[in-house]
Amino acid sequence: MTVAGPSPRPAADGLAVRAAPAGRLRDPLQPWGRSEILPETLPQARPDAVAPAAPSPDSVAEQQAAVLDARLRDADPLEILQAASDLYGDQLALVSSFGAESAVLLHLASRVRPQIPVLFLDTGMLFGQTLDYRKQLAARLGLTDVRDLRPRFQDLAVGDPDARLWKTDTDACCNIRKVMPLDRALAGFEGWVTGRKRFHGGDRLRLAVVEASEGKLKFNPLANWDKADLDAYLALHDLPAHPLVAQGFPSIGCWPCTNPVEDGEDVRSGRWAGQGKTECGIHVARAHVAPPNVGGDI
Ligand code: SF4
Repeated sequence: MTVAGPSPRPAADGLAVRAAPAGRLRDPLQPWGRSEILPETLPQARPDAVAPAAPSPDSVAEQQAAVLDARLRDADPLEILQAASDLYGDQLALVSSFGAESAVLLHLASRVRPQIPVLFLDTGMLFGQTLDYRKQLAARLGLTDVRDLRPRFQDLAVGDPDARLWKTDTDACCNIRKVMPLDRALAGFEGWVTGRKRFHGGDRLRLAVVEASEGKLKFNPLANWDKADLDAYLALHDLPAHPLVAQGFPSIGCWPCTNPVEDGEDVRSGRWAGQGKTECGIHVARAHVAPPNVGGDI
């Protein structure tokens, strides 16, 4: 593991180190400036030529993600975060559960950009310890823009009026309480950062450092780190652990769907235990669960 020193600029990669001009996003397929060709210097299309179809946002994002992943797949997490911040500036958000391992990514982000918007899904079903930890850790790290995302009143009233949906349909419950609130929040951003790691297993075994998701770029700076790396970073920076870690919870979500695990079991085996469900849905393709038929924002 490489634990980087305080807030260095990343090594000499033209893409990663040069900030975009204020208010502009850089094209990761081009060194900054090369795409700024004056229109009159471009070859002129014949009047009768059929214009080629514009690439879809999804295919552009996939191309961009592939280029960036090739450049950053072996980079230090701090360098990956710096590259993402340089690329997107205030159009970059970080999604955190303030769970068992969240302090590592949040601390790294605070070193790069303490004002980064941190999106926290307050499902209404979280442990009280998580809500306390969210406040304490944000204050300790100097994160100035932690946003609590809550499910819409109308969605709950129609889809989960007695707050028992988790007993009968966990996918629908996660959709109302996590997927939909996050989708609404991410609409205001161009890229986002997650704390997923390959060592968590399942679908995460093939996790890329940079991937495309719903037409946006998603950065996974800790994809390459294992448990020993995380523990070393927590110790080095004396970061407080989530209080439930000491009670046998290596991965922490909503209280109805999180169990403690035995030593040696998979990190995420206590999540939706016995249900065959391994992800809440925010990291899988959308539209697999129909939203409730309700109106606009409250
Ligand atoms: S983790 Fe459980 S309680 Fe939380 S949103 Fe998903 S199904 Fe509902």
